[in-house]
Amino acid sequence: MTRPVQRYLGACHCGGVRFAITTDFPELTQCDCSMCKRRSATMVKVHESAFELLAGAELLTAYQFHTHTARHFFCKVCGIYPFHRKRVTPDNFGINVACLDDFDPTGIPLRQAMGAAMP
Ligand SMILES: [Zn+2]
Repeated sequence: MTRPVQRYLGACHCGGVRFAITTDFPELTQCDCSMCKRRSATMVKVHESAFELLAGAELLTAYQFHTHTARHFFCKVCGIYPFHRKRVTPDNFGINVACLDDFDPTGIPLRQAMGAAMP
């Protein structure tokens, strides 16, 4: 069961990076790739048209590995990962839902993504 489409605000820990997403939260994902298992984030996927970077572009550093398609952003001040550009669907962002203001994941299905098995 999805939620009404709504705009959610998010930020890194220091507040330098601020963003908004618009989504109905069809699902949340966790991933077992070498990156995700270390940062242990729960994510929601949104198309780039549903993503707004409100502040902090100059604070974002991109980390890339393996195929160098995905771009994993983190705040260079506080080190928090707020979102990344996805590898298989590079016009989409994966959003760290723990960075969203007042977000309650109750009732949203959680899917395990098999990142480690991807070539
Ligand atoms: Zn920060």
